[in-house]
Amino acid sequence: MRTSSGSKQLADLKQQLQLRVDAMAMRLGAMNAHVIRLDALGRRLTEMADIDSREFNFDVAPPSGGPENDGEGVSAGIPDLTQMLAQLEQRVNLRDSQLAALENVILAQELKEDIHPEGRPVARGFISSYFGERADPFDGREAFHKGVDFAGAMGDKVVAVAEGVVTWAGERSGFGKLVEISHGDGYVTRYAHNQRTLVAVGQMVKRGESVALMGSTGRSTGPHVHFEVLRNGRQVNPLSFIGH
Ligand SMILES: [Zn+2]
Repeated sequence: MRTSSGSKQLADLKQQLQLRVDAMAMRLGAMNAHVIRLDALGRRLTEMADIDSREFNFDVAPPSGGPENDGEGVSAGIPDLTQMLAQLEQRVNLRDSQLAALENVILAQELKEDIHPEGRPVARGFISSYFGERADPFDGREAFHKGVDFAGAMGDKVVAVAEGVVTWAGERSGFGKLVEISHGDGYVTRYAHNQRTLVAVGQMVKRGESVALMGSTGRSTGPHVHFEVLRNGRQVNPLSFIGH
């Protein structure tokens, strides 16, 4: 009598335990599916950021094993679950560090984009002279124009086209009141003929920050900013950085 009631208790316990194991296996399956979605996200980000995918491999095979159904509703045993959990934990930890590294790479790329000249050095105004050969406005002789001129009104704000450090702020022969900014990666921009400079040498400026007020100082025939972009010490056509 005692034995049969004891074995019934044992059978009940075993059934309860199996129910819990089944519930855990289901949750583990859901977590696994979640990790697979994160892997897909990691792969997309790696592609978007144009990063060598060998460095950030989100294609490591999913953990092997998993609840096996024997057809009677009995699924994984406890040792299987423990092993699956350990594998999943390992995988989550790996993805965690991979995604953190990926975030750093993307942030660094964004920072680098900030130092590349982009946009116009004035909020309003029109291009009055392009880069290249032209007649000198003073003597009419053929001369090479090493920048782009934006005509505007006296006192208009002249803004930095990229983040950088001011390397010249004041009079310079031919340029009048000049602001020169070094952006790193070999890029320098110049803003010439200003009425007044608003920054000092050594000052850090951000993209869009006012660095001077438009004027007509130096070799100039009217209010405009003469804008130059230099790459490794040579003037390049600023038009490719200005956009539209
Ligand atoms: Zn010019």
